[in-house]
This record gives sequence, structure tokens and C-alpha cells, in this order.
Amino acid sequence: MVDRTKLEQKLQKLSELPKEEQAKAIKTLFTRDELDSLRQNAQQSGVQKCIFCAIAKHNVPAKIVYDDANFTAFLDINPANPGHILVIPKEHYEVLPQLPDALLNAYMKLLKILSAAVFEATNAQGSNIIQNNGVVAGQAVPHIHFHIIPRFENDGIKVDWTAKKVTEKQLENIQQRIITTAQKVIGGEPVSQQVKHTESKTFSPPDTPKPAKKQKLIKVKKRRP
Ligand SMILES: [Zn+2]
Repeated sequence: MVDRTKLEQKLQKLSELPKEEQAKAIKTLFTRDELDSLRQNAQQSGVQKCIFCAIAKHNVPAKIVYDDANFTAFLDINPANPGHILVIPKEHYEVLPQLPDALLNAYMKLLKILSAAVFEATNAQGSNIIQNNGVVAGQAVPHIHFHIIPRFENDGIKVDWTAKKVTEKQLENIQQRIITTAQKVIGGEPVSQQVKHTESKTFSPPDTPKPAKKQKLIKVKKRRP
């Protein structure tokens, strides 16, 4: 149990320290339970500020194309092509490894149906289904979303990368590490440790609020003329 009064006092103490000493002090000042409690609060306030949660609850208008008890799909307001939609779970989860298994089948089925619908409705010649995890991967809104982007010949969209050089040994090494980790997860080990970086990112002491990130949808690199 976390003693709220004690926690308030510690937060007050933390806020009185010089900025450069605060990061270090967090580790010594708070118990594990207190840190967990602060982290939960930070996550809850993240949910309150989440634009996709607001869309899923119909508190913010969006051009919704599908809506049920668990999922919402709507037009991206900054589309790569007309008909570009986003498909989200209604519950707030930041990255794919956090999504409960119970939702997976329905999510994949919905992606199949909606990608077909987008394809037909736009007379597309192809489509991309893209899902980014983490800011570093281009995830602008920290609420799981799949992009369905209809594609046309010469539409100027480039989903591309330059291949890196790797040795046979490096391939074998990473192959082994992925196999080992996957087996651990299949064996029931929690996935939370794999998304630690996003958890720590959402946690910030109340006295040093991080400026709200500009809500910006994924930018698909345009091909240079
Ligand atoms: Zn959300």
C-alpha cells in the first residue's frame, strides 16, 4: 500500500531539489511501490490526453468507417492517399506487444475486411498495412494503430529502406536471440520487459512535466521527383 501523504511529501522534496539532481534522487527517494503508483498515474493521464481514445469514445469527431465494442476505424486526416484509414482497439494500449491475446483474432479479421473494403472503394491496385511501435519507428500517437493505405501506380509513396550489410554470423546470432526470446514469450514470460522503454518514456515526475508531443500522423516518405 502506498501512503499518499508520504508520497506527496516526497514529491514536494523532489521538486525542491535542483533539476540536475532530480533524476538521481527519484531512485533513492521512492520505494518500488511508490514508483509503480506514480507510473500508473502518468499512464492514466496519458490515456486522458490520448486523441485516439477520444475518437474511440466518440468525444472527438472523426470520419469513422467502422465501429464495434472493441475496435474503431476512421479516415486518417493526413492521408498518404485518399482512403488511408487507421484501425485501433478501443482500449488504450501503446504498442502491439501489450495487446491482449483475446483481441488478436478479431483485430486481424477486421484488418482483412477493411483492407478489402478500402481496396474496392478506392479502386486501388494494391495496399500497404503498416503498424509502427515506438517514436523511433515513426509512431506519432502512442495508441496501437494499423494504417491501411490504398496504393496506385506512380502514387509517389515510398515505403523503403537501404539494405544493411550483415555477415552470416550476425544473421545466425540474431536468429538465435529472436528464437530464444520468442520461446520465452510463448512459455508465458510477460512481454512487459520488451516494452520497458515505452513505459519509462511515459513516466515523468509530476514537477517536471514534459511538453505535450504534437499529435502528428505518420509521414510516409515521398519519392523525390
Ligand atoms: Zn489511447
